Amino acid sequence: MEMKLSRGPWMRRQFTTFFSPFLTIHPSSFSSIPSTSIHSPPLTHSLSPHSFSNARSLSISAPATLQSSLSPTPSEGKEDSGIPMKGSKVLLKGMRYHELEKWVQSHGYRPAQALMLWKRLYGNNIWAQYNEELEGLNKDFKGMLAERAEFKALDLKDMLTASDGTKKILFTLEDGLVIETVIIPCRRGRTTVCVSSQVGCAMNCQFCYTGRMGLKRNLSAAEIVEQAVFARRLLSHEVGTITNVVFMGMGEPLHNIENVIKAADILVDEHGLHFSPRKVTISTSGLVPQMKRFLKESNCALAVSLNATTDEVRNWVMPINRKYNLGLLLNTLREELCLKHNYKVLFEYVMLAGVNDSIEDAKRLIDLVQGIPCKINLISFNPHCGSQFRPTSEEKMIQFRNILAEAGCVVFLRPSRGDDQMAACGQLGKPGEIQAPLLKVPAKFQTALEGASV
Ligand code: SAH
Ligand code: SF4
Repeated sequence: MEMKLSRGPWMRRQFTTFFSPFLTIHPSSFSSIPSTSIHSPPLTHSLSPHSFSNARSLSISAPATLQSSLSPTPSEGKEDSGIPMKGSKVLLKGMRYHELEKWVQSHGYRPAQALMLWKRLYGNNIWAQYNEELEGLNKDFKGMLAERAEFKALDLKDMLTASDGTKKILFTLEDGLVIETVIIPCRRGRTTVCVSSQVGCAMNCQFCYTGRMGLKRNLSAAEIVEQAVFARRLLSHEVGTITNVVFMGMGEPLHNIENVIKAADILVDEHGLHFSPRKVTISTSGLVPQMKRFLKESNCALAVSLNATTDEVRNWVMPINRKYNLGLLLNTLREELCLKHNYKVLFEYVMLAGVNDSIEDAKRLIDLVQGIPCKINLISFNPHCGSQFRPTSEEKMIQFRNILAEAGCVVFLRPSRGDDQMAACGQLGKPGEIQAPLLKVPAKFQTALEGASV
């Protein structure tokens, strides 16, 4: 859903949205935002109650409703024709090819010029960021671009390299917010770029550092695409061709579905970046209606973060489950994947010691995924400041893996990458003083968490 909002003072402000199916808290500084009825959340206690003492609550019932409380992308306006703008210029990387072609033609140039521009933006090892890099283009056309088009949506802020070669890139956005992109060199000539889709995240998964930030805003399609372009431009010579893109950075991609589908279309365009659709993976915490839409509209790969085998545990560690529970999520996948040809979903399962890593969990997981064409990744939990969970031991992860494999599941152990630079899954972002609320730990898991805080 694209939002057109008038530029009132509240719109220029950043505001943070935390997701619990029962509660969204807006910091008191945003008291001008109209609030609706207050629900006391049965399973919620606030991490730092004083931070929220003046906060007003806005009750929400579904992530879809959350869309309407998102702050729009400040850097990006829309021309009447729907073309994304940065100030008075069009944002080139926010357009699909046919949109670029139409825009180029509307300025009196031939489609062939659009194709040449597209190839310089995304192909031929150029990844142009400046007008001067558009070698071979008609002079008048370049003049028009200099006047009316913006090449860049991101500014490089910093780059950190972890001991295993993983690189974390920090970008500053036009409004001063910072996002993180991770490049993970793998064996066999495969390098993956992990892109962010939002600044922060509203889903409030209890084990995730990004979730602690709450949601600041959606990224535009240009800001998403440019992370991959930047990675190729900056690092192809160093780490080899970047072959895979995973939407596993900051944010819940399907909470920003419009821009994510658009960005994915641009990434797979055969005249441009030309990533294989099967190598562009969108990962979701399980927003069911958006997931159905994604499976219908996109050919890219889907990953679903399962992370629990009972609603009791998933309601706690992934509050989105209170809206779209395990049964609904998995039945939807069962039905929707029948309609796709030769398509497997990737289930991600972060192993949390004493919470979701028992032998019973392994057996339940086998039953849950019955009839769903899938692969399963067992991910070791990456600890972060303030995390209440502990990683499952390697020995136990192997045991868990073996139970699944013996039952015929396709299952992999995914070791942590880049965690000494906080570049691993669930370690991205920078929560401020006001953080998303931690939910009450169900009594039977309290002992499992004791002493886990770091
Ligand atoms: N929001 C999307 C994609 C970003 S999170 C999603 O949740 O799927 C990418 C992956 O990181 C998810 O599978 C998530 O379960 C996992 N993750 C989050 N926090 C983690 C942590 N602390 N350690 C290991 N994996 C984590
Ligand atoms: Fe958001 Fe994914 Fe982190 Fe959950 S795991 S808070 S959905 S980024």
